[in-house]
Amino acid sequence: MSFDMATLALMGAVQALVMAVILWVATGSYAGVARASLRLRAGAQAVEAVAWVLLGLRGRVGDWLSILVANAVMLLAYAMAVQALRMLLGAPSRLRVVAVASVAAWLGIAWFALVTPNFQARVLCASAVVLLDLALLIVPLCESLRRDGSAAKGVLLATLLIAVAMVLWRDADLLFSTRPSTGLLAPTSVNAVYLMFLVMQPLFTSIGFLLLYNETMQAELKLLARIDPLTGVNNRLALVEAIGRLLDAAGRNGRPLGVLMLDVDHFKAVNDRFGHGGGDRVLLSLVERIQRGLGAGDVIGRVGGEEFVVLSPGNGVAATRALGERIRAEVACMQVVVDGHALGMTVSAGVTEAVPGADDAAALLQRADAALYAAKRAGRNRVVAAEDVAPACPLPA
Ligand code: GH3
Ligand code: MG
Ligand code: MG
Repeated sequence: MSFDMATLALMGAVQALVMAVILWVATGSYAGVARASLRLRAGAQAVEAVAWVLLGLRGRVGDWLSILVANAVMLLAYAMAVQALRMLLGAPSRLRVVAVASVAAWLGIAWFALVTPNFQARVLCASAVVLLDLALLIVPLCESLRRDGSAAKGVLLATLLIAVAMVLWRDADLLFSTRPSTGLLAPTSVNAVYLMFLVMQPLFTSIGFLLLYNETMQAELKLLARIDPLTGVNNRLALVEAIGRLLDAAGRNGRPLGVLMLDVDHFKAVNDRFGHGGGDRVLLSLVERIQRGLGAGDVIGRVGGEEFVVLSPGNGVAATRALGERIRAEVACMQVVVDGHALGMTVSAGVTEAVPGADDAAALLQRADAALYAAKRAGRNRVVAAEDVAPACPLPA
């Protein structure tokens, strides 16, 4: 089978460009890390398309364009692709390492093109930085794949591992083959397979990227749907899910689960005096203060306007009451400055302990709420345990 290598390279350009447009369009209106990363990846594909055009014109335009500029553009495309995927995976940027390696490789390519012409040495310079780029993608991808076993990451990893194999095969062929190596577009079987793979690679990686974008977007939306936008703590949905998880764990390990419900006393007066914005600033300071007093396993959530719940795994009623008492005392001492006025406040709290197997989230929150209501009735700025509250309608003896 014979290939027209220049045509193949130009097909790579078209494919990369088409995938760039598809990736760009696919980002839609969703604004998050996933979108920024996909757009960078789309940009990388477009830049890669330019590099393919230049490489495909080898022999028809000056070497400075089809070797020096083409390689610089291709290295830039790879660097952008590395940043895009690392961003999507939440891995730290390695921009400096990639930039230094790419510039060094390009200087090597320029040297072996202009000063001491040597095709093998040029390919090895480019391969070194491509392998580094691939490693910077494969390592975080493997780590991430181990954590969640995502299908999209599997597709991407397979494509990248094949790319590594291709680069190594081509390098080995260049180093150990007896046949003279005349260039990337020389019609050898290694070049044919290598170029075929490179031409198809934008398609495979784009599919993997789109799948990963979709997974990341779903995860970001899931997270957003569970965060209270004002305070950044769990919202009611996330808190109810956490109660379910912690109740299961309490049932398994036989350890108690304490629940503390807090409500600011006379908060309407804060809003009336300082407006909703002032009230919001007070709520932020309050959450910060509560969080400072929590243990590593404790979970906090906002269940109403100025009502918060703390779940304290491992703590029974007594320990949770003590936690509530500490928070109550600290809040009573704190001053929040709003519009130049120092403002004090108090909180009331209701406490209860889960009965594993018998309780669910609704029952627990209802008991803590009843205890909170009792604390309000008893005069506010206090902590009351549900277990101390007499039922509103005592059961007949
Ligand atoms: P009590 O001591 O009985 O709790 O009195 P209270 O005035 O605090 O009464 P309540 O807890 O029922 O009032 C909650 C107020 O919180 C009512 C509402 O205006 C205000 N609120 C609810 N959500 C927000 C919010 O997101 N920001 C601000 N600033 N205020 C809120
Ligand atoms: Mg209140
Ligand atoms: Mg309230």
